[in-house]
Amino acid sequence: MNQKDPILHFQRAGMGAGDIQESLSDHLTYSISKYPVTATSHDWYECLALTIRDRLAERWMETMQRYYCADPKRVYYLSLEFLVGRALGNAMLNLEVDDACKEALYELGQDFEKVVQQEYDAALGNGGLGRLAACFLDSMATLDLPGYGYGIRYEYGMFRQSIDGGMQVEHPDNWLRYGNPWEFPRPEVLYPIKFYGRVVDYKHEDGSVHHHWIDTEDLMAMAYDMPVPGYGGKTVNNIRLWSAKSTRDFDLRYFNQGNYIEAVADKNESENLSKVLYPDDSTEMGRELRLKQQFFFVSASLQDILTRYRKHHASWDELPEKVAIQLNDTHPAISVAEMMRLLVDMHRQTWEHAWSLTTRIFSYTNHTLMPEALETWKVSLFESILPRHLQIIYQINAEFLQDVMHHFPGDQDILRRMSIIDEEHGRRIRMSHLAIVGSHTVNGVAKLHTELMKSTIFADFHRFNSDKIINMTNGITPRRWLNQANPGLAELITEHIGKSWVTQLDKLTELRKFADDETFTRKFIAIKHENKRKLAQLIDKRLGLAVDPDSLFDIHIKRIHEYKRQLLNVLHVITRYNRIRCGTYPDLTPRTVIFAGKAAPGYALAKCIIRLINDVGDIINNDPLIDGKLKVVFLPNYDVSNAERIIPAADLSEQISTAGTEASGTGNMKLALNGALTIGTLDGANIEIMEEVGEDNMFIFGLTAQEADDLRRQGYRPHDYYEQNHELKVVLDMIASGFFSPGEPQRYQPIIDALLQQGDRYLLLADYADYVKCQERVDALYGDPQQWARRAILNVAGMGKFSSDRTIKEYAEKIWHVKPVSCDNGA
Ligand SMILES: *Cc1c(COP(=O)(O)O)cnc(C)c1O
Repeated sequence: MNQKDPILHFQRAGMGAGDIQESLSDHLTYSISKYPVTATSHDWYECLALTIRDRLAERWMETMQRYYCADPKRVYYLSLEFLVGRALGNAMLNLEVDDACKEALYELGQDFEKVVQQEYDAALGNGGLGRLAACFLDSMATLDLPGYGYGIRYEYGMFRQSIDGGMQVEHPDNWLRYGNPWEFPRPEVLYPIKFYGRVVDYKHEDGSVHHHWIDTEDLMAMAYDMPVPGYGGKTVNNIRLWSAKSTRDFDLRYFNQGNYIEAVADKNESENLSKVLYPDDSTEMGRELRLKQQFFFVSASLQDILTRYRKHHASWDELPEKVAIQLNDTHPAISVAEMMRLLVDMHRQTWEHAWSLTTRIFSYTNHTLMPEALETWKVSLFESILPRHLQIIYQINAEFLQDVMHHFPGDQDILRRMSIIDEEHGRRIRMSHLAIVGSHTVNGVAKLHTELMKSTIFADFHRFNSDKIINMTNGITPRRWLNQANPGLAELITEHIGKSWVTQLDKLTELRKFADDETFTRKFIAIKHENKRKLAQLIDKRLGLAVDPDSLFDIHIKRIHEYKRQLLNVLHVITRYNRIRCGTYPDLTPRTVIFAGKAAPGYALAKCIIRLINDVGDIINNDPLIDGKLKVVFLPNYDVSNAERIIPAADLSEQISTAGTEASGTGNMKLALNGALTIGTLDGANIEIMEEVGEDNMFIFGLTAQEADDLRRQGYRPHDYYEQNHELKVVLDMIASGFFSPGEPQRYQPIIDALLQQGDRYLLLADYADYVKCQERVDALYGDPQQWARRAILNVAGMGKFSSDRTIKEYAEKIWHVKPVSCDNGA
C-alpha cells in the first residue's frame, strides 16, 4: 500500500464553518433525503454526526495505514464493557471544530444544544470498570499509541432507570433503534466460535497427540468498528465490537429437512448471545449465557489478533514482541486457555512454546477484593460448554502446582489455596488464579488496593513471585471530564495558563498561584454557580422540584451498593433534618443532597436504599418547617451524559465507601477535577487525591482500612453504637417505625436488620458519628465562600496526576512495552 494513494481524494475534509455547513446540507439530501422544513432535530443530529464522521474517517484510515506500515507492537484492551457515552461532542472537541459546527448549524437555523442532545448515550457498561476502558481508549489515541479496544456489541446496553413511586424500574436500552452513525459493520470480518461438543485425541506417528474439538455448536462473530479520535485529531484508533451471527452451516441442517421456519427461529436464538449486557456491578452470578459471552468475544478477538500478526510474520516466535493483551478484570481471563488452544491445537505449536508465548503476552487488571465479585465457574458447567479449555486449564494448573510445590516444599495447604481449581465449593474454576498464572504482570488500580491485593487475596501469589503484582493508579480523561463537560471552567483555566493542560494535566499546578487571586476566584465562583443553575433547571424539568443554586450541592453519584454507603449519607440527611426541626442549628447552611445511581436488578437491598432515598426526600422536601434548608433529590438514570451534567455543578463530592472496599474509584477524580471538595474515607484513590491536593483541602473521616480490619477481628458490635449515640438511635428508630413510609411501616426492616441484626458488614454505625461531625466542618467552611473557593481551586490544581494519560503512559512503559507511532516517525 502506498501512503499517498493517488485514487483517494478526500473531499469532505474542510474544517471551516462553511465547509461544515456544506457537508450538513449534503448529508441532509443524500444520506437522510429530507428538505430542511421536514427535518427533525434527530435528522440534523445524524447529519452532523455523519459530517464529523467523514472527517474522522480519513484520519482513521491514515492511522491504520500508519500502523500497518510501521508494524509496531500493538496493545489490545479486552473488556466486556465500554461505557463510552455520547461520541459527537467528544469528536468535535477532539477535532477542535465545535465552534465551526455551532456556526454552521446556526446558519441553518438549528439549535446546536438541541441537536447534540439527540444522541443516544452508548452505555455498554455498568460503571467504573467500563468507563475506565473508555477513558483508556481516549488516552491511547491521544498519545498516538497503537491501542485497540475489543468487546461486545450488545444490542441492549445498561438498562434505563426510571423511578415510579420511589422505586427503581428498569427499561430495556434499545440504543440502536435509530441506527448508530459511529459504527462501521464489517461483514467480511467474521470468525467461527465453537461451543459444547467433545474432544477426541489423535496420536501421530511421531508420538505427539493432537486434540480435536468436534461436534460443536457453532456461531459466527461479526465485527463492527468504531473510531476513537485522539485529541488534536491526528490519531484515530479503533474499537472492534463483536456481534453474534448464526453460521450458514447451522441453518443448512434444518433447511435440508425443509424446516424453514424452525431454522430461522433457531438462527435468532443463537444470535441472542450478544443481545444484552449483564447489569450486575460487583456480584457474580455464574450464568451460562455470561460464560458464553465471555468466550465468544475472547475467541473472536484472539483469532483477529493472530490474523493481523500473521500478515507480517511467518513464525509465531515474535508474537510477544508484537502483541500485548490487557485483561480488564477476569471477564476475558478465558483468553489464557483460548490462546493456548489456538497456538497448540490450531497452529501446531508445542505446549512449552505456546505457554512461553502466552505468558509474555497477557497482563491482568484486578478491580475488586470483594469475594462475591471474584469470578468462579462450576467445573461441570465449564466442561459442557468448553471441554477442551477445561483440559487445557487442568494442564496449566498441574504444571503451575508443580512449580508451587518446588517453591514451598512440604506446604500442602498452599497448593489448595493457590490452585486454579477450588475443590471445596463444589469444584469451581477460579478465574482470577487463571488470569494471574497466565499473565506476566498483574495490577491493582490504586496504591492501597494493590497493597491489599498483595497482603490479602493474592498474598500467596505475591510470596511466590514478588515482581508480578504492581500498581497502576486509575485516571480519567480530561478531554471529556473537563474540556467537554465543563466548558466554563475549561475556558477560565485556558485564559490563565494556556491550553496545554488538555494533554498535560500536570500543568494545572500553575493554577495554585490564582487560589488567592480575587478576580480569578470571583470568576471561578461564578462558573460554579452557573453550572449549579443549569443543574437546578434540569432537576426542575425532570422532577418538578425547585432547588436553590445558592445552597450547597452535596453530590453522591455512583452505582448503588452497600459498600459505597449511600445509606450512611441518608443517615446524615435524616440527622440534619432532625436538627433543623429541633432548631438546634437555626442558621445551618442550606443544602441540596443529590443522589444518582442504578441498582443491579436482582440486588434487593440496593433497591430498598433507592426507595428510602426517595421516601426521605418526599417527607423532607414537603415539610414546611424545613423552609428550604434541606432538599433531597434522586436524579434517575445515572449514565455518562448525566454525569457530565451533574459533576460540574458539585460543591461536595461524597466518596464514603468503607475503607478497604473501593478499589480506586474514578468518580472521586472527576468531581475534584471540577472543583468539588471531597468528603471521604481513606479508601481507594481518595488517599492519593489527598496526597496531591493536601489534607487541608479535603474532608477526611472514618476508620482506616487497618482500623476497619482490626475492629472486625475484635468483634464489631453495631448495636453498641446504636445504644450509645442518641441521635443515631433516633434516626434508625424513625426508619424502623415507618416515619418515612407511613403507609407501610415495615418497608425498611431489611435495612434495619442489615445494620442491627446482620452485623453491619460495611461498618456504617462505626463511622456515623465521625461522618456527622465531619459534615459540620463542611458547613462551617461553606459559610466562608472565599475560603471554600480557594480550596476548590487547589483541588483542581492538584489533580494533574489523575489524567488517564499518566496512567496509560505507565501501562505502556511498565507493562505493555509499546511506543507511540506518530505521523512523523511512523510509515
Ligand atoms: C465515573 C463513572 C462511574 C464510576 O463512579 P465511582 O464513583 O468511581 O463508582 C460510574 N458510572 C458512570 C456513568 C461514571 O461516569
